[in-house]
Amino acid sequence: MIGAGEVSAEEVTRAHLDRIAAVDGQVHAFLHVDAEGAIAAARAVDSARARGEKLGPLAGVPIAIKDVIATKGVPTTCASKILEGWRPPYDATIMERINAAGMVMLGKTNMDEFAMGSSTEYSAYGPTRNPWDLGRIPGGSGGGSAAAVAAYEAPLAIGTDTGGSIRQPGAVTGTVGSKPTYGGTSRYGLVAFSSSLDTPGPVTRTVLDAALLHEVIGGHDPRDSTSIPAPLPAIVEAARLGATGDLSGVRIGLVREFAGEGAEPGVAAAVREAIEALVKLGAEVVEVSCPHFEYALPAYYLIAPSEASSNLARFDAVRYGLRVGDDGQHSLEEVMSLTREAGFGPEVKRRIMLGTYALSSGYYEAYYGQAQKVRTLITNDFKAAFEQVDVLVSPTTPFVAFPFGSRTSDPYQMYLADLYTIPTNLYGGPAISVPAGLSEGLPVGLQIMAPTMADDRMYRVAAALETVIPPLTPPALSGSNS
Ligand code: GLN
Repeated sequence: MIGAGEVSAEEVTRAHLDRIAAVDGQVHAFLHVDAEGAIAAARAVDSARARGEKLGPLAGVPIAIKDVIATKGVPTTCASKILEGWRPPYDATIMERINAAGMVMLGKTNMDEFAMGSSTEYSAYGPTRNPWDLGRIPGGSGGGSAAAVAAYEAPLAIGTDTGGSIRQPGAVTGTVGSKPTYGGTSRYGLVAFSSSLDTPGPVTRTVLDAALLHEVIGGHDPRDSTSIPAPLPAIVEAARLGATGDLSGVRIGLVREFAGEGAEPGVAAAVREAIEALVKLGAEVVEVSCPHFEYALPAYYLIAPSEASSNLARFDAVRYGLRVGDDGQHSLEEVMSLTREAGFGPEVKRRIMLGTYALSSGYYEAYYGQAQKVRTLITNDFKAAFEQVDVLVSPTTPFVAFPFGSRTSDPYQMYLADLYTIPTNLYGGPAISVPAGLSEGLPVGLQIMAPTMADDRMYRVAAALETVIPPLTPPALSGSNS
């Protein structure tokens, strides 16, 4: 409609800013709204259109950005006190690409501090609430991006996925969450959590939207040393092909080892129905064995904290944001220590301690080294499975959105949210979560995993499922201007 001149980018942007003003007091998806910047960006698109310039498919479309992405001149906190007040002097590569596409950034979204968590309850600025039930979590770490999209505050958003933080929030908010192949989207300008796992990607309401956004942000970036120097697969084409609803010839694998592992009955039932729907569209279902997947969670909780403990050493009270105790009475080391004590929350401190321990001399081989070996075994499981099938499917997460406070007292209960998503991160392949109906009135997600650099396959299957299970809309928020 923007391209055809039926509506201006400014009108679309104002409508979303109005929606944010109406509902974000309840949802708290945003940490920062940049209304002025958004209107200016929208006007630039409208004048480019008036001049007759050719616009890309997403020009003038608003987008919300997870607060872990560096945005030039716009606050970037990672939902941590330690970065309060920091305004990056540069844009992340994916932001440069979003801006170049003429997209309109609405603001920065809430998350678990430094992307560590599965509920946004670890945000230093208070949690985001799930638009489906304001007493429940929106998933995490990217709960703000998912809730913003689910609540119609933004049509599109960006998340980052280290262990499931795009897919699990997608599942529990009834949105689409796509984690590209590791190295298929640039990490340059992402505040690093676990560098060998971090992957930015789309959060949207439809599969085609995800593919279109993936195409804008994806592709090789010489500024990221692990970026893959190859063209993106034809993902938009694959999403359109899937939308024809024909999956004949597609082989779908069910991981035997996932079957016994604790999905709630309502989640398991919705996923079973989604798989039956895929079979009706022509897909063939094959059971495969991935015997090392059961070690993914413990391996992840050595690798991710180890890398995090090293990455978070840069928050030293000198270079960014917060500084505590700089009064002439304390030594440099004391200022660093006071700043880190005040600036990091409990989950971040837990990860730094775990990671530092796992990397310490004498323990390195026993913990980090061992976890890396497990990572290789999991990769081999994926490779063997993909010799038999085109994609693997599973529930995205074992349970629907849980009530606030129900998993914060035991870290392990929180870690279980990523039981099904973490193997993919350790392997580096792409995976997407798509709505698979409801359980007790709350959204369930189906996860579709594909081989590395075969992101097109997951988009095809996901778009086909959408022809049977249409996008979900949450019940109206009170006082909203829907
Ligand atoms: N929930 C996982 C963790 O806490 C994954 C986080 C993520 O993907 N950023 O580490």
